[in-house]
Amino acid sequence: MKYPTEVTIRGVTYQIQYHDESLEVDCELKRELLGRINHRKRVIRIYRPQPSFDLLETLLHEVLHGVFARNQALNLALRSDEVVEPFIDALTSELSLLFIENGWITLPKQQPPATTHS
Ligand SMILES: [Zn+2]
Repeated sequence: MKYPTEVTIRGVTYQIQYHDESLEVDCELKRELLGRINHRKRVIRIYRPQPSFDLLETLLHEVLHGVFARNQALNLALRSDEVVEPFIDALTSELSLLFIENGWITLPKQQPPATTHS
């Protein structure tokens, strides 16, 4: 597996950026986050200095937010953050383990290169 720099979700392409500072991940509200998706700017920002499995989980978590946002049934079923965050966390863990255990992806030994622009 190579760390992707973009992902297309139902025809919409999001740029994926990797940042060394967690405050850069949420550059709008300046919260310390591991990952953040911005639907308007179509950007997913990921905190880079984390173990590769955690990085995969963070990436998948944000991609699932994108999938849920673009799927009306999922969006309606999981409206509140209280419901959607634990649900996405659980789904992310299960999918990450499934991919690794079945050899569908192999985690890179190195972290992705840092994104130089924000
Ligand atoms: Zn989330």
